[in-house]
Amino acid sequence: MNISLFKLFPAAFLLSVFISACSSPPPALPADANRPAHHTAAGFRNTDTSVTPILDTMSSDAHVNIRRTRTYALPLDSGNKALWRTPGVNSLTWIGHSTFYIRWNNTGILTDPIFSDRASPVSFAGPKRGTPPGHSLDSLPEVNLVLISHSHYDHLDKKSIQMIFKKYPKCVFAVPLKVRELLESWKIPSAQIIELDWWQAAAFREMTLTFVPAHHTTRRGAFKSSRDVSLWGGWVIELAGKKLWFAGDIAMGDGSYYREIADKFAPIDLALLPIGGYKPSRYTRQHTSPRQAAQIHQTVQSKHSVGMHWGTFGDMTFEELEDPPRDLQRARKELQIPENSFHTLRHGEIVEILR
Ligand SMILES: [Zn+2]
Repeated sequence: MNISLFKLFPAAFLLSVFISACSSPPPALPADANRPAHHTAAGFRNTDTSVTPILDTMSSDAHVNIRRTRTYALPLDSGNKALWRTPGVNSLTWIGHSTFYIRWNNTGILTDPIFSDRASPVSFAGPKRGTPPGHSLDSLPEVNLVLISHSHYDHLDKKSIQMIFKKYPKCVFAVPLKVRELLESWKIPSAQIIELDWWQAAAFREMTLTFVPAHHTTRRGAFKSSRDVSLWGGWVIELAGKKLWFAGDIAMGDGSYYREIADKFAPIDLALLPIGGYKPSRYTRQHTSPRQAAQIHQTVQSKHSVGMHWGTFGDMTFEELEDPPRDLQRARKELQIPENSFHTLRHGEIVEILR
């Protein structure tokens, strides 16, 4: 294990005390020399304050179901597991929702792992899994690194984190600012946690991990006081001149965060972009529609993008489980994106990447 922070904010930022509830929208950004603009006294906020959803042409709200997504299973793909074991081959496996298993340079990486039946703090309520995990944790090759985008229950699942740590006690967990204490309370050793703020970077093996902005929020627990107390974002992994961006949960906002990511990293070799949870359109304050994801794919000059955050959990928003790939297909046509440069995988499917 080789963890070293390349750059740190002044210690004062890391000692921010989070004491009060964040129950109202952030005010216009005040000039405050003592902390970065996305930090507040109580936690974090989007510096892009445009919350007006960017309307797109997918469908009007009048055509959206009045009921939340039904919970049912999409077909599983058994996956070409030989790719996991072929020396020199890098691969991407979709487990479901925002969970991918990435094998890159003989390192096994899980993104926002959730193998549980519900995205919830309790086992009897909350969004229920329709499509089972494409592969169980036990069937995967080794896991060395876990990337967490934020603390929403469908992205940070206590049971899955503890299961991974039990099976791989040397696994390293890379998390946003203020998520460390949660993992420590779950008995993950402090030395195995990389906790970063936006634009901070750390080394893991030969990789450089950079935590990058996302337009989103977070909340964990029933009380408003748990809102936005930890940060949200995405991860860029750089290795041998190649760049992979796991975007996490993102909304378009005014698009400025993704232009900044493009300024620093474009062209991206592989982008994992969320395409679900966008109907009705008010949900695009929190999530990207397939068309917005396709626009971001173009902004960062992604050579290859794969859609995530769809087809797995019912009862989250209102689109059908199969809507995102269909709407992505329409967006590709409108934006003249070739099918093989932005597509989806079946649950369990394994493809070669980053050749
Ligand atoms: Zn979220």
